[in-house]
Amino acid sequence: KAGPLPYKRVLLKVSGEALMGDGQAGISPDMVTKVAADIAAVAASGVEVCLVVGGGNIYRGLAGAAKGMDRAQGDYAGMLATVINALMLQNALEQQGVETRVMTAIQMAAIAEPYIRRRAVRHMEKGRVVIFAAGTGNPFFTTDTAAALRANEMECDALFKGTQVDGVYDSDPRRNPDARRYDELTYTDVLARDLKVMDAAAISLARENDLPIIVFNMHSPHAFSEVLKGDGKFTRIVE
Ligand code: UDP
Repeated sequence: KAGPLPYKRVLLKVSGEALMGDGQAGISPDMVTKVAADIAAVAASGVEVCLVVGGGNIYRGLAGAAKGMDRAQGDYAGMLATVINALMLQNALEQQGVETRVMTAIQMAAIAEPYIRRRAVRHMEKGRVVIFAAGTGNPFFTTDTAAALRANEMECDALFKGTQVDGVYDSDPRRNPDARRYDELTYTDVLARDLKVMDAAAISLARENDLPIIVFNMHSPHAFSEVLKGDGKFTRIVE
């Protein structure tokens, strides 16, 4: 398709699971390199990009709580997991010549900048890819909510959610071969039908600010670059 991309500034949510590649946990260096290359191509095209990284490949507070751990304590551990992923992604991006900054919601001055909204905006205006780590900085939240929050704060044109499947389905496509993928949904559809794509807090935040959410499969090659151009399969969640 010809013509300029419709986006000036976007946020990409990279789940921890997306960084596992074909593994069951942890980080696949090949997958991180692939994701970074995809992001680098988008940044090189002139679109301002910021990222929120998850931590589910390392630790989730909810999983800990199910085994008797204090939920808030586990959530703090989960937030630290996102910082590990952020550093990995920063390294891979820098190896591809992309200038990046990691900003954390929980201060760790020795390894990353503290999150300051105006500074984050400034970094992006200068063409740097900003990686937001440590979620919202609060337990009982998810990095999906952090993604909707930061995308609103950064006045992004859209939130891209890279997942394991190519959009939102009416049932789990990995279990049900007849599952149907939606091309477009409203925020209210997602909430009312309790579709498991993002938690309700994230969807509500997006709805309040009219932030489009685009759900796509992070595993296909150049997935982010393609979906940004409107190519490939995805589900758009809008008003
Ligand atoms: N977390 C949190 N507050 C936040 C974001 C994340 O407490 O604002 C914790 C929570 O325990 C979560 C973990 O960090 O399970 C990892 O994030 P998430 O599960 O959202 O990662 P993803 O599913 O994207 O890999």
